[in-house]
Parts: sequence; structure tokens; C-alpha cells
Amino acid sequence: MNVAFKEPKPALRPLDAIAEALLLPSGIDGVYARTGAFESVVDAVAALISRHRELGAEVLRFPPVMSRKLLERSGYLKSFPHFLGCVCCLEGAETAIGGAVERFENGEDWTTELAAGDLVLTPAACYPVYPLVASRGEVPADGLIFDVAGDCFRREPSRDLDRLQSFRMREYVRVGTAAQVGEFRRNWMTRAADIAGQLGLTGRIEPASDAFFGRGGKLMAMSQIEQALKLELLVPVRSAAEPTACTSFNDHRDHFGTAWNLRNAAGEVMHTGCVAFGMDRLALALFATHGVALERWPTAVRQALAL
Ligand code: 5GP
Ligand code: ZN
Repeated sequence: MNVAFKEPKPALRPLDAIAEALLLPSGIDGVYARTGAFESVVDAVAALISRHRELGAEVLRFPPVMSRKLLERSGYLKSFPHFLGCVCCLEGAETAIGGAVERFENGEDWTTELAAGDLVLTPAACYPVYPLVASRGEVPADGLIFDVAGDCFRREPSRDLDRLQSFRMREYVRVGTAAQVGEFRRNWMTRAADIAGQLGLTGRIEPASDAFFGRGGKLMAMSQIEQALKLELLVPVRSAAEPTACTSFNDHRDHFGTAWNLRNAAGEVMHTGCVAFGMDRLALALFATHGVALERWPTAVRQALAL
């Protein structure tokens, strides 16, 4: 499937200028301090997405960490072990912790005392939703819709400004029958293309695959593309030749339904799907398209964002 949308074709601004003005280095690739101007655009895009929230959607905001056990049960280690960050702390007796501090003070490696805890860094905003649904029992006949967001972490250090290790994700998540999830995803592809058009962004929606781990992962990625289970809204950010995925439209089939035993009254295993907005990438796409100076953005774009 290939859904093209609005084509104004503004020239792309070089990302170096954007970095200098809007995203300040932290000493680690893919981790930045965001300026007020950058955040004002992130907030405005978030508000625009909220204005498209469907009636009855339950709003939840998650912290940047989640239960390691719950993520394990979701099957994350099978698909993306290379992206996972696990929270490690100094635990145990005061003498052991004191010993680690001493090693640090002597210029030695203190991290050998770290022990993996019960928290991981959340890799996508929707993972905490499925166990929550499972804890509530039967899924109603109309299914469920959630509006979720959180800081996400993926271990992918890169110098590219559109590839962060720590980024914000906003999602609408659907739990229901295969037909309900299919309709939700189709609707959101139209809506997201419309939103991008209002924002003066050029782009297209295309089938895509997740970066599954290892050799087996290549087969999973091929099958994902074949079945069109993932589509992405691609917008020029770094270059027009290699556009950046700013939003994804995902059909998980019964993956989470099976992992979490999500069922309706008839006992059917539920399907799930999500539309995931990359908030930092959307803001970056806007700055790359319209420039660093907000006051010089096209009036229609500023109006759409109420900026
Ligand atoms: P997905 O789960 O489809 O990989 O990610 C959902 C959305 O999060 C993507 O469409 C993208 O906009 C955003 N995202 C994924 N990885 C990164 C990343 O490395 N950096 C940034 N800034 N956003 C990302
Ligand atoms: Zn999701």
C-alpha cells in the first residue's frame, strides 16, 4: 500500500542548525536537552493529537520505567533484546554499597557491584497497557481504546538527530476483534496523513518492518512486510531520499492477546493494534521543513498548532 499526501515540497533545512538552536548535547549520542522552543512544538503537536482523540478513549501517562517481568512476558526479549535497557542499582548491605563508592573514589570500576533490578526502561509506550487490560478481566464487545504516552528508551546510539536513545512516544491503542483493530488502523492512517498535511509536511505511508534481533529476526521482518502489519508515515528530515518514520501504524494480530490472555465474553482471543507518534521526530520534521524560527513558519501551520 502506498498512500501519498499533500506535496508542497519546501526545501529541507540542515539539521546542524537545528541541533545548535534546539537540541543541546548531553555528552552521550542520542540524548539531548530540549530547548523551550523545541518543547513548545512538541506540546503543540501533542495538543493537536489530543484534539483527534476518539470518544471513550482512556487516557494514561506512563513513567519512563516499567516492570521487567511484565516486559519479559510480552515477548520483548525474543524480538528486541538488543534495544533493551535494564535499571541496575547498588543493592545489598551498607558495606557492599560503601565498597562500591570507595572503588569509585579510588578511580576504580565501581559498576561491578551493580545488580539488575525489577525495572526496565520502557521501549514503547503501549507495553504497559496490555497487562493492565488483562488485570481487568473480560474485554467488552466494543473493545477498548487507550491514549497513552511516555518516555521510551532504545539502545541505538547514533549521531543522527532523528535517532535518539531516549525519545517521547504518544500512542492510541486499540484492543478488540481483528475487524475492530483493522478499522482503527485504516482510520488512523487517513487521519495521520491529514494531520501531516495540515502541518505542511510532505511524505508518504509505506509498509515497514521492526528491527527484529538476529537471523530469525530477518524472517520475522519479511513476514511483517508481507502481511502489511506495520506501516510508517515517512517524512523528510535528514534528507528527502531517506525520509524518517515519524508515526507507525501497527497491527499486532493476537500477539499481546495471547501473551496476556485477553478475551471477550465469547472467549475469543483479542487482537491489538496501535498508532504510535514519535513526538521528537515530528517536532524535528517541522523544524527541518519550516526552519528554526517559529515566527517565520507558514501561518496555516502555526494556526493548526495554535502556536
Ligand atoms: P516504533 O515502535 O514503530 O518503532 O516507533 C514508533 C515511533 O516512535 C516511530 O514511528 C518514531 O516516530 C518514534 N521512534 C522510534 N525510534 C525512534 C528513535 O530512535 N528516535 C526518535 N526520535 N524517535 C523514534
Ligand atoms: Zn504500540
